[in-house]
Amino acid sequence: MATRPGGVRIGSRRAHRFRAAPLPVAGVVALTVLALVAGGLVATGSASRGGAERVSTRPAKPPSRFALANHCWALAAAVSGKFVAVAGDGYRAKRRSKAKAAALYLKPTRLGAYLLYDQGRKLMTAEGRRGVVRAKRLGKPAQWAPRRSANRTFKIVSTANHRKLAVARRGGALTLVSAGKSSRRTRFTFQRGHGCQRYPEAKTGAMGTPFKGTRPDGTVMGFADAHVHITTELRAGGRVIHGRSFARFGITRALGGDARDHGPDGSLDITGNLLRNGTPVGTHDTHGWPTFAGWPVHDTITHQQTYYMWLKRMWKAGERLVVAQTVEDEPLCRLEPRRSHSCDETHTIKLEIKRLKKLQNYVDAQSGGPGRGWFRIVRNPRQARRVIERGKLAVLIGIESSNLLGCSEFMDEPQCTRADVDRGLREYRRLGVRTMFVSHWVDNAFAGAALEGGSRGSFIGIMQALQTGEYFETGPCPERGQGEELDPLGLGVLKYLARFFPNAEEILGIPIPDYPAGKQCNVKGLTDLGRYLIRRMMASHMLIEVDHMSERARLTVLNMAEKHDYPLVSSHTDTGGAWTPSDLRRLYALGGFATATPAESPELADKILRFRPYRTRGRVFGVGLGTDTGGFSELPGPRADAGQNPLKYPFRSYEGDVKFTRERSGQRTFDLNTDGVAHYGLFADLLADMQRRKRGKKALPVLFRSAEAYLDTWRRAYRHG
Ligand SMILES: [Zn+2]
Ligand SMILES: [Zn+2]
Repeated sequence: MATRPGGVRIGSRRAHRFRAAPLPVAGVVALTVLALVAGGLVATGSASRGGAERVSTRPAKPPSRFALANHCWALAAAVSGKFVAVAGDGYRAKRRSKAKAAALYLKPTRLGAYLLYDQGRKLMTAEGRRGVVRAKRLGKPAQWAPRRSANRTFKIVSTANHRKLAVARRGGALTLVSAGKSSRRTRFTFQRGHGCQRYPEAKTGAMGTPFKGTRPDGTVMGFADAHVHITTELRAGGRVIHGRSFARFGITRALGGDARDHGPDGSLDITGNLLRNGTPVGTHDTHGWPTFAGWPVHDTITHQQTYYMWLKRMWKAGERLVVAQTVEDEPLCRLEPRRSHSCDETHTIKLEIKRLKKLQNYVDAQSGGPGRGWFRIVRNPRQARRVIERGKLAVLIGIESSNLLGCSEFMDEPQCTRADVDRGLREYRRLGVRTMFVSHWVDNAFAGAALEGGSRGSFIGIMQALQTGEYFETGPCPERGQGEELDPLGLGVLKYLARFFPNAEEILGIPIPDYPAGKQCNVKGLTDLGRYLIRRMMASHMLIEVDHMSERARLTVLNMAEKHDYPLVSSHTDTGGAWTPSDLRRLYALGGFATATPAESPELADKILRFRPYRTRGRVFGVGLGTDTGGFSELPGPRADAGQNPLKYPFRSYEGDVKFTRERSGQRTFDLNTDGVAHYGLFADLLADMQRRKRGKKALPVLFRSAEAYLDTWRRAYRHG
């Protein structure tokens, strides 16, 4: 892999192909192609110094409308052959030489639509019925859709009013004409330009093409993260977690404007404050883009940490399978005083699924067209395997929610029927969901929830009371080593909290239990309706997530799974109920999947290796990550001895094919040694830190077999029935 001074990568395969094909493109044509390639590369180099993310397009024929993405272009008017140049506050087709043309960087907003960002950092913008001006405001008037037109040209349509870009009859200024008009004045060509400003974007800091293909034995390489909340900003009513994994108008929108949700000083982040510090009162620095002075940080729980470029860094580090867990909890949403949508879980889950599909399209748009991106939603294990073999990231859609399929319970009464279960499962399958939690934080009509400890557990107690009309009923645990100590909030604290969460008033009349000291478990297990759900999930090959359900419920589900030889998944093992050695033995014997939750690198290696006693003969042994990023949980901080023994930059990926520098977003550079895992992309750094240790060297091969192990588990679910 060669790297040009401008930071542009030229794939060796491409260079080879180019050299190997002199016969069909002989003489002048070949020279033209060469000049175009050289011109294009130089131009893109200056536009994307240090951040080249894409392979360039084949310039021999005019680019497709998708291939304009993230490149520098000069725009030529078909009517005069003249190039469009900046002219005051507008543009004019007046230049014979490309050197004087406006340098337009085309940033995709979605498939087939772009911002045209000029060398003065202004956007070509539609104004009124006729005007085309240079402006800075983001919005539909700045968005254009180039479409193929006659003679290998493009027409360029404003998405604000659907009028067409045209060259004025006199003077050559750019203007708008009605959509129906078509002449040489409305046709343009894109030619590789020079001197663009790159549109603001985070950089992966990962250079090189990641591996693809299989091992000699046919298994795939790479690791799985079975538990990530990419769409976390939509949970809890949509105003609790700030920042989005992508935005149509780019990173400034996706990761800016925290004050809108959390207030200028962060004091409106009452849920974050409560879960972090045990009190709703608190402040934080709200600066995201471009300084990122306030967030992301490893111990935030209410800011987006999986911006798509950060996720891309992990893909480059060898991540090949991700379960995007859509997530919502009605009782938390109802407690929130500020919301952007209803508290109906199914409604929110559907919004999140839609958002994941949009993300796939957005990544495709950045990568040059439909199907070209590295982020691929998959619906069955065979499809996932193909995606991974092509070196891309397979994305399963999962659900982690409190009232799956709307099946809550109130005062022990289920709020849904078997028919609701059938209908809901069918619909989720149709939408692409392939793995689901049976319960989450509170009891529902299917099962009891595993108790959680600490201030988070106390807060969950409020949700349980609000949703089900009663606090948890506890008793001894079915197995040794399980359970949590419960410390419910007293009436005085509840009244205080109700000042911030007014809907907490509803539970003030519910008697607060006096739990005995010591660890206890939820006495509620799997209900009849829960058994029905499990049977239906097996029949539809849906993966069954067994974290979060009460220890009693989990034992029942293990029994059922053994009877039907059906695999189970623990996607963030020991979160939402501890796993005993006996449980784990049974999970592995069924061909199930377990994970290591985030920890600093020495401990993470131990967490991966702890499953070794359970490996089963004749089956690939791989342990995945269950990072629960976006799950109201902190990510690992800097290692205590990072000062004396830091991870050194740059480093190479585990497979050695990608070189990593410190990740850079806006004006901020992230360093594992000082920032810890401030965002998802820094897990790549954490894995490199692990690789420097003896135990880490043992753990990484196990981790890098986890994509294969997950596929194996999933395949078993398909074999059933
Ligand atoms: Zn969870
Ligand atoms: Zn989660």
